Formats: sequence, C-alpha cells, structure tokens
Amino acid sequence: MHTLVISDIHANATALEAVLADAGEFERVWCLGDVVGYGPDANVCVDMLKSLPDLTCIMGNHDAALLGFIELGTFKYEAQVALQVQARQLNQNARDYLELLEITKVVDGVTLAHGSPRDPIWEYILNASTARENFAAFTTQICLIGHTHIPSIFVQEPRKQITVLLPRPGDMWRSTKRFILNPGSVGQPRDRDPRASYVIWDDEESIWHFHRVEYDIFSVQKRILELGIPSRHAIRLSQGI
Ligand code: ZN
Repeated sequence: MHTLVISDIHANATALEAVLADAGEFERVWCLGDVVGYGPDANVCVDMLKSLPDLTCIMGNHDAALLGFIELGTFKYEAQVALQVQARQLNQNARDYLELLEITKVVDGVTLAHGSPRDPIWEYILNASTARENFAAFTTQICLIGHTHIPSIFVQEPRKQITVLLPRPGDMWRSTKRFILNPGSVGQPRDRDPRASYVIWDDEESIWHFHRVEYDIFSVQKRILELGIPSRHAIRLSQGI
C-alpha cells in the first residue's frame, strides 16, 4: 500500500493541490496536524483533506489554537493575527471536523503525533537529544511527526545513540531500526527550499520516499495579503523559512 504522509499544510490550498497532483497513486493519507494557521485557505484545505482516501489526521498546535483549545497568547503576534483572521472565516463544517481530531494515534503499528510523542502539541524535535528522550514515549518501531517544517529522520542506534538525517528531495530510505520521521511541511517549508514537501511510504517495499513539488507561491501570497494576514507569512513562503 502507498501512504501519502503530509504535515503542516497551514491553510495553503495551492501547495496541497500541487502535492496531490504530484503524489501519483496512494490508497491512504496520514496528516500530522496544523491544517490551519498562517495561510489563506483554511476551509478549502479542510474540505480537500476530507475528500482524501482513508484519511487519518491528528491535531496540531495551530488547529488547537484556532478552536480555542489553547491560548492564542502562546503564539507569536503575527501567528496570532493569522489565526484571528481564520477564526472569523472558519465555517461550521471545518470546525466540526477539526474539533474531533485526536492529538496522537497509532495506525497499523505507526505512531502519529504533531510535535513529539511525549508532548504532541508543543515539543519540537530538532536535535538528537530531544529525539533520544522521545523514543521512550512511544512503543512502535516508527513514529511520524511534523511541527518543525523540516524533513528529517532520527534513528535510534545501539546504546541509545541517535543518527540525525536530513533527507533531500528524491531520497528513498528504509530501516529496520526504530526511528522518528518528519515529512516536512506542505504549506510553509522552513528548510530554505520553498517547494511543498511530502513523503510516500510504500509499506510493501518498506521505503520512505521524500518529495518536493513547486507550486504557485505568488497566488498564495496575494490571498494572504488580501485577507489582512501579516506580510511576514507571505514573504517567508518564497524564502522557505
Ligand atoms: Zn506548523
């Protein structure tokens, strides 16, 4: 089976469309949270997600904040403004969908969490020491995360050593060790590559295939500014930061 693994769409429907068009055939979709926040297309992104086959989606910190589950004050000012704009726009269907998302889930022996298995809403796994501590927080071989917007893999080696890998577009990877894998961000990449990031997992071959795809960034920037979302969130899309 081919599983499309995506994260951090951040209300960027143009990037999500490009991913879906580029991904080829897939039978299942795992979305690792932050469907909303930052971008212009919150309702459209929820509708697009809901139409995908065999979808499992979990809640991210921006989703939780938009619903009022966590304090807006915990976000940077520009992120707060984007969430306030989206809160005014969000329709009931999208709200109903987001409200039912769980913060972690185990599907077919794979753990899904937005930030980390230990602290699914908030923690960023950016380095070996944070990853090392998190291997005790899940029991499956594989844990998938998002939140940092950086494609990455943290592999548990003997004697609790951690290998950190930063996969490049086109890389294919497999392992029988325990690992934590981040597919990068669809709607707001932060590794200085502005293209939308996603992963296809082929579970028959046990291969994780990292992909990037270009999309019409300018059209998204235009919608961001038209809605009164801070220009920082438009500018960063073309810089991939
Ligand atoms: Zn995010």
